[in-house]
Amino acid sequence: MDIHEYQAKEILKSFGVTVPQGGLAYSPEQAVYRAQEMGGKCWVVKAQIHAGGRGKAGGVKVCNSDTEIQEAADGMFGKQMVTPQTGPEGKGVYRVYVEAGVPIAREIYLGFVMDRSSQRVMIVASSQGGMDIEEISAESPDSIVRSIVEPAVGLQDFQCREIAFDLDIEASMVQQMVHTLKGCYRAFRELDATMVEINPLVVTGDNRILALDAKMTFDDNALFRHPSVSELRDKSQEDPRESRAADQGLSYVGLDGNIGCIVNGAGLAMATMDTIKLAGGEPANFLDIGGGATPERVAKAFRLVLSDDNVQAVLVNIFAGINRCDWVAEGVVQALKQVQVDVPVIVRLAGTNVEEGLKILDESGLPLVSATTLNEAAESSVAALRDHMAKKNK
Ligand code: GDP
Ligand code: MN
Repeated sequence: MDIHEYQAKEILKSFGVTVPQGGLAYSPEQAVYRAQEMGGKCWVVKAQIHAGGRGKAGGVKVCNSDTEIQEAADGMFGKQMVTPQTGPEGKGVYRVYVEAGVPIAREIYLGFVMDRSSQRVMIVASSQGGMDIEEISAESPDSIVRSIVEPAVGLQDFQCREIAFDLDIEASMVQQMVHTLKGCYRAFRELDATMVEINPLVVTGDNRILALDAKMTFDDNALFRHPSVSELRDKSQEDPRESRAADQGLSYVGLDGNIGCIVNGAGLAMATMDTIKLAGGEPANFLDIGGGATPERVAKAFRLVLSDDNVQAVLVNIFAGINRCDWVAEGVVQALKQVQVDVPVIVRLAGTNVEEGLKILDESGLPLVSATTLNEAAESSVAALRDHMAKKNK
């Protein structure tokens, strides 16, 4: 789960990381009020969306007066902001964060990630802050400093000092840097984060080290341990199909194709998508309905898959190991009686009680195409899709 910049800053602040003074606003008027509350002469208005790259997309504006703040916020609210990280549809701006402007002397990149090869938390830093880490690694790979944290002892002071020296932090500020690194690491560990990124971490003209931007991602499977984190979820920033699926306990990822997939098991779902591609089709989604494919779950899955207007055929691929094909077939038949389906439905069943399952599908009188192998199912789906499209376009 992702959270907003202002939320990540609040969390990091509670772990001792220094952040600029700021306030959240839900309207341009409130943005001006927040700036007045803070005082000063220079402020930065920042669109709160679950994506970086806002600077280049007009989502970060430095302002020197009330009018400028009002105009900057006005230009952001209600927009679908498109940045290199949002995808073409962008993300809606419903909150802006107003911060006290900071005189920047240096921009540093700082990230905490899970390193799969060492199975440890890795700190990644670079003196070339401000750019994306992808850009940094393409343009100045030598500037990147990496340090792995030994979990038995945690992040050590000497390690932090080493990182600070590698980044050429002035001796008088090394202790601030140690404090910042340790605060981020503690936040990462204690809250089950999978990523903490501060880009840029800045050194100011008056020798302070501040997190000017902050991004945190959390392990969904550990959210139950952190109710104060899970309540930061902002559904306006998620794909509505995916959040509806998550609420119903289904694993769904929307894709761009037109063959909807209803499958039990993540591996089988991946294989199904591959086979559809191989047969010349394009899957509309990944969907794992889980082990117990009850009629209710199958019906929910149909509703979800068909809520995507691009779907022109649905392939149901169920392997019954612990489950039973006759039971799943019953579920498909019941689901199709509950949910209006105007596109061809292809069903492939395999495993326990497959004959009984196929018999139920046959005798239901529903216009289903059944298949025995996955290849056959994928080919039938592509053929049925083409037929259906041809009929529709007549
Ligand atoms: P991102 O583009 O979504 O990663 O947004 P950031 O929060 O990183 O802001 C983008 C850039 O705006 C930063 O790299 C800074 O150069 C600049 N910026 C942000 N806040 C301030 C500020 O308080 N003062 C100044 N001068 N520049 C800022
Ligand atoms: Mn940034």
